[in-house]
Amino acid sequence: MANVDFKVFWDECIRQIRENKIDEAEFHLWFEKLVYLSYENSHLVVGTPSRFYKDQVVSRGYNKLIEKTLEELSGSLITVSFEISENKTEIEDEEEKEEKIPSETVIPPVKQNNNSPKSRPIPPENIISHPQLQTNFTFENYVIGNNNDFAVGAAKAIADNPGKTKYNPFLIYGGVGLGKTHLMQAIGNLVYQANPQTKIVCIPSETFVNEFIQSIRTNTQNNFKNKYRKVDLLLLDDIHDLQDKNDTQEELFHTFNALYDYDKQLVFTCDRPPSELKKFNDRLKSRFQRGLIVDLQPPSYETRIAIIKKKIEQTNYNDEISLEVIEFIAKNITSNIRDLEAALNRIIGYSDIVKKEITIESVKNLLQQYFSVSPQSAVSIGKIQKIVSEYFNVSILDIKGKKRTQKITFPRHIAMYLSRELTDFSTTEIGIEFGGKDHTTVMHACQRIDERLAVDSTLEPMIMELKKNIYS
Ligand code: ADP
Ligand code: MG
Repeated sequence: MANVDFKVFWDECIRQIRENKIDEAEFHLWFEKLVYLSYENSHLVVGTPSRFYKDQVVSRGYNKLIEKTLEELSGSLITVSFEISENKTEIEDEEEKEEKIPSETVIPPVKQNNNSPKSRPIPPENIISHPQLQTNFTFENYVIGNNNDFAVGAAKAIADNPGKTKYNPFLIYGGVGLGKTHLMQAIGNLVYQANPQTKIVCIPSETFVNEFIQSIRTNTQNNFKNKYRKVDLLLLDDIHDLQDKNDTQEELFHTFNALYDYDKQLVFTCDRPPSELKKFNDRLKSRFQRGLIVDLQPPSYETRIAIIKKKIEQTNYNDEISLEVIEFIAKNITSNIRDLEAALNRIIGYSDIVKKEITIESVKNLLQQYFSVSPQSAVSIGKIQKIVSEYFNVSILDIKGKKRTQKITFPRHIAMYLSRELTDFSTTEIGIEFGGKDHTTVMHACQRIDERLAVDSTLEPMIMELKKNIYS
């Protein structure tokens, strides 16, 4: 496809995204400032106004949305990368002088008398970036906390010596948004920087499935095999997506063996421990367990603070976001790091549009709207005990006391459970507030409630009701 023609696809792609794929506000925030720069060899280069903007577009997966839409439109696979185009903001200009951000990342202005994309000078490639790796998914950008320190240590060891450590394969598992993809790609980025000759493949498992199916359909299985069995570092994301895909599992099994036998490094991510994969080839499952399996846990309050600070550092909003606001976000968004980032980006995006100072009030409103959390930063254990005792009609003294009748232990366990969930107190501190009990008693109580939640469907509405009362 010729260069010039491709702009037509780009325009149509943007139009379709706007009309069918995302809501208007989101489009306004992240698509309006994208510009078509060039197209060659199935690769499209798009200009963004700043590094922050670019990172946002990528971390929101909009690069993938663009690629997918272009594929639908053109019928062929097209990759997209972003460059910071010439319309930089003043802030960035200043920053550049102060911090000496390398000017190679900035595209020289287009000559005024010739606007055809072909005539655009191609900027020198100084930043080594692999087409399948996100440049911001590095170890430098990965905040270490006690939820992930072991995993990060292992990942670094692997990146230093791919295929040579006993951590082969390396499998990272954990819930959504906890940093699996980031950590996996950090390995890829480090290996690639150390040696850009390394053949790295980093893809979602879904892509592996699709390409495999496609190779059968077009009778090009050999190409497929050659492609995947000859890499030095295979990073395969979200292998749980292979559940139920027997033929692809079989193919991966052979790919695995071919690579493993030649000491090529394999890294996988999964949303659960591999032992819990269902409809999965046992031989393949056992291969996953040969090397090292690590899990990523949700970050603690302190780690959430550190992550938010790190993300803010990477923006131009250092001065606008107070510690109070940071703490507020960390307190209220506890689920995972993706949500944490989304909250922060909402706030930054909002302040960008309305050009107003970021106050705790505006943050409360924004978070309430988008995450439906109750911005209650200070729930006390005393309040929880009071509400629970009223609800079950037992005395607060009993809740804090030592009686072990069912009538009292159940409300006590509920109160401990809610204290752990709704406050930032440690189990030790919670134990103290419950008449000086040991932290293991609190942990045990929480465990009992968790177990019961899994089997007793009346419990969750009851807990919801209690939370509502606590927050009202
Ligand atoms: P997963 O693959 O587990 O769903 P991701 O790796 O996509 O999660 O992470 C979600 C977002 O959170 C990404 O933008 C990532 O950069 C960020 N993130 C995750 N863990 C960390 C961390 N420890 N430090 C900084 N950012 C993180
Ligand atoms: Mg992921």
